[in-house]
Amino acid sequence: MRSSFLSTLTESLKGPRSEGLKPLPNSLEKRVYNYKSAAKSFYCPLCRTPRVMKVRPKVTVWNHIQMGIATSFLTLFLFPVMEWRSLFMYFFLWSALESLLRVLYKKDVPCPHCGFDATWYQRDVREARRRVQEFWQHKEVKKES
Ligand SMILES: [Zn+2]
Repeated sequence: MRSSFLSTLTESLKGPRSEGLKPLPNSLEKRVYNYKSAAKSFYCPLCRTPRVMKVRPKVTVWNHIQMGIATSFLTLFLFPVMEWRSLFMYFFLWSALESLLRVLYKKDVPCPHCGFDATWYQRDVREARRRVQEFWQHKEVKKES
């Protein structure tokens, strides 16, 4: 019972395991960096290059433990000023971490090899297409200079 609880806790701390994907024969990039602890691994729908997401958009159990420790330290220093109300700092830390993780996740979405952004594709296909064209124009300018 106890060992199963510990194993599930350690599994949740590690996050889902992801196997490194092999490049397909028709991938744009054949050699990609292999991340050991990627949050998500998949093929880019446009260029078929193996991709990884390094950041999970959700707050994990380990993050809650970290925020609890940070809150206790903040309470230690803010207690003379705010007294027990300083315990509400936990919720400020939670919202700050949640928004930071979302910003980092959004930054990770566009493909570094072809510029395809799945979030823009969901919202507006024309805008996603324009962004891919812009990406390739910048890439060609970089090659020429
Ligand atoms: Zn791509």
